[in-house]
Amino acid sequence: MLLAPAPDHLVWLDDAFVLWRDATMHVTAHHYGIGVFEGVRAYPTAGAVAIFRLADHTDRLFRSAHILNLRIPYSREHLNRVQCEVVRRNRLESAYLRPLVFHDGIAGLGLHTQGLTVHVLVAAVGWQDGAYPQAAHGGPLRGLRVRTSSLIRHHPNAVFTKAKANGNYMNSILALQEARACGADDALLLDAQGFVAEGSGANVFVVRRGVVYTPPTTSALEGITRETIWSLAEGEGIPVREKQITRDEVYIADEVFFTGTAVEVLPVVELDGRAIGAGATGPGPITTRLATLYHEHVRGMREDRHGWLAVVPP
Ligand code: PMP
Repeated sequence: MLLAPAPDHLVWLDDAFVLWRDATMHVTAHHYGIGVFEGVRAYPTAGAVAIFRLADHTDRLFRSAHILNLRIPYSREHLNRVQCEVVRRNRLESAYLRPLVFHDGIAGLGLHTQGLTVHVLVAAVGWQDGAYPQAAHGGPLRGLRVRTSSLIRHHPNAVFTKAKANGNYMNSILALQEARACGADDALLLDAQGFVAEGSGANVFVVRRGVVYTPPTTSALEGITRETIWSLAEGEGIPVREKQITRDEVYIADEVFFTGTAVEVLPVVELDGRAIGAGATGPGPITTRLATLYHEHVRGMREDRHGWLAVVPP
């Protein structure tokens, strides 16, 4: 669960700390969804709060901005420091951070973006486990019931899928609305060719006969958790392959799971009314193993061999 900000809660906007309630913009800002953002998490680790893969999220923010021709007027190092500072100043231990780069729309209502000011926000809110139907440490993992969406994922020449761009999320929001209206927990989106792309806000993995498969990122976001899980699986000697996946391959998979900063590793136990593997009795062994490993890495319970944890200075 995301926690409501306290009255003295601070956000960082255009290089100044301001109260959450004072971080306001002109009503035309955000017009047309031109903007890029990140979803980043901070975790309590032994003795310190740490932001997981902070530099990688900031790098993706800059790549997204580059794709949309947005010039971020700060360095990566500055934004990394700011994100730590937002966590520290708000005395957060477990937090969800939202860096956001966007134009205000004051200069006009037309489609051109020349001359528009670029604004940068870093907000963070407290996070309590249970935000998504994921396991609290050691607890049982509840699985997602998912439906194939009638909406397709972006064609890379419609919008750019390597950008985590604000406007791209209209597709996710509509797909999630539809899935929920049909009684499912989430949507599985196919790409323009009909192959599995990703969930509304997560990448997807399919396990069959001990091998873990994930679709290419042609139409899906290059998830940082996707990459983390890939690396953790390989570290366990579990083979991981990228391949095009059809929806009926998902029906007959032994295990399926979603990955994302917010959802971490989340088992999918049903697609389109068909139980997946041993879905009815709970997540499979590889999903459980990877979910546990991820849980332990982000919370500093394992040696940080990859340098994934950025410690927030006290
Ligand atoms: N796909 C989409 C559409 C997402 O919104 C997210 C969440 N950022 C992901 C995949 C997973 O990406 P990450 O692991 O970097 O959070």
